[in-house]
Amino acid sequence: MPVDAKGAVARLKELRTLTADKDGAQRLAWSPLWLKAREWFQSKLHELPVEHHLDAAGNSWTTLAGVSKKNLILGSHLDSVPNGGWLDGCLGVLSAHAVLRRIAEEFAGKPPITIRLVDWADEEGARFGRSLLGSSAFAGTQSIAQDRGRTDAQGVRLDEALAACGVNIERIGEAGKERVDAAAYLELHIEQGPVLESMNLPLGVVLGTKGVERHAITFHGEEAHSGSTPMSARRDALAAAAKLALEIRSIAKKYPDAVCTMGSVKTFPGIVTAVVGRCEATLDQRDLDAAVLADLYAQAQEKSRQFAGEEGCTVEWSRIWNIAPEPFHPELIALCDEAIRETAGRSHLMPSGPLHDAAEVSRAGIPTVMMFVQSLRGISHNKIEDTREEHLELAIAAFDKLASKAMAWIQAK
Ligand SMILES: [Zn+2]
Repeated sequence: MPVDAKGAVARLKELRTLTADKDGAQRLAWSPLWLKAREWFQSKLHELPVEHHLDAAGNSWTTLAGVSKKNLILGSHLDSVPNGGWLDGCLGVLSAHAVLRRIAEEFAGKPPITIRLVDWADEEGARFGRSLLGSSAFAGTQSIAQDRGRTDAQGVRLDEALAACGVNIERIGEAGKERVDAAAYLELHIEQGPVLESMNLPLGVVLGTKGVERHAITFHGEEAHSGSTPMSARRDALAAAAKLALEIRSIAKKYPDAVCTMGSVKTFPGIVTAVVGRCEATLDQRDLDAAVLADLYAQAQEKSRQFAGEEGCTVEWSRIWNIAPEPFHPELIALCDEAIRETAGRSHLMPSGPLHDAAEVSRAGIPTVMMFVQSLRGISHNKIEDTREEHLELAIAAFDKLASKAMAWIQAK
């Protein structure tokens, strides 16, 4: 029985019409439009023999009970960034819905194992700066103590915004109960990068999410008059930072999938007539391999000290944030690769630079894999985010195939 891929694409368009304005999607988590999107999604479940509830963190669970309680979870997120696209997150939820419908029909409402659909709460963290809020509560990696007092741009506190949606922040950890009998997690997502398009491939298997090292780096030199200070007497903090900004490219290029970015540079005093006395920069480094990530970090540190020395400066590092790489399950990676080959002919194995809810699920010890579909121009978090319709349909068909393979895999365990 084929999955209704065209129907899923039609529903994606319906959701876009409902929740986007001229600037793009506005399904910001914990906002009225996000609640409206969720209510709309509920209306699509009426004809199915499913149970539905929200967990303690506001994650939305739809369960098709099977003969066995062991369950296969399919999911993603309906929330968006402000002025976001129509596919980020929604593609995964609406594809999971199409697969759930196909399975319910094929097994006359009672599949051999239980199938669950999850719409994670606040994946984006766009409003309060805490990404993966719902999935981290599910995984047991939530950080309520640090997150409790977060505020949005209007000064609304995170705990208040959650309370308005019926979620008590002190209790979000109870979402961990939903992990019972979870046997595997699958997520379909747009790539949000240019790799698949550049290879002319519609679909790819995600090997895992890259780990991140994020640091503030400050070079200290000496402010001096730009007219009276000879070049040889300068201690130019910007010169040291600039050398590092170029060097991180060579450091990253030693590894095929590593990325290093100096995204922000501030100079002090920052006036046209003074040598830069202090330069504050940020560095973001990512790779799927923990040893590679550690090496990227160590090399950048070493080079920063060398360049500081060359320019008569000193350097200090302070970690802003870091997260370990999360490799996905090897057997599910193999099944995903198979499903893609059978559907699209060719497949590609790739790490994900962006973080995803799937990484939190995997961190909780639940076998996980993700499938990527090509993003046009590699753009997302933007109203021009798009994927060819034939690629969306191919992705939903391949994801459906993956779900069947994962069901058989769970039954055989
Ligand atoms: Zn997403």
